[in-house]
Amino acid sequence: MALRNLIRKFSGAFGWAEVERMPYKEEGSAPFKAISRQVLFADPVFKCELRYFEMEPGGYSTLERHEHAHAVMILRGRGLCLLDTEVRPVASHDLVTIAPMTWHQFRASEGEPLGFLCMVNAERDRPLLPSEHELKRLRAMPEIAAFLEGRSAP
Ligand code: MN
Repeated sequence: MALRNLIRKFSGAFGWAEVERMPYKEEGSAPFKAISRQVLFADPVFKCELRYFEMEPGGYSTLERHEHAHAVMILRGRGLCLLDTEVRPVASHDLVTIAPMTWHQFRASEGEPLGFLCMVNAERDRPLLPSEHELKRLRAMPEIAAFLEGRSAP
């Protein structure tokens, strides 16, 4: 079926007309906290999807990696992003490319909401979670240990 023309108005509160604010993932499927998901574009014509994820202050996305990539634009607030073995501050309008099989996690670490647009392939592999061994390796890096525990950098 052909794509139809459509404008969904921005609500002003990081919502869009007729776009449902959904749970980030199925509860208990992976670790995450205080994060919602809105699917903005998902028509099969695109072969990709654009989603908006938002964390409340203190919230975080799942620490994961997968074969598919992400193209991310921070749309709201400030926070921290773990990319591979680096912890970096991110803020509104920054662009983040997450390459295949890179560990990644976002945290609303700055006492304010953190929201981002995330473009992803419509067909994609399931995220992998770190094994105990992998977590231990990541936690051995003080900056990452602090990030994972929601503390300020040592
Ligand atoms: Mn991911």
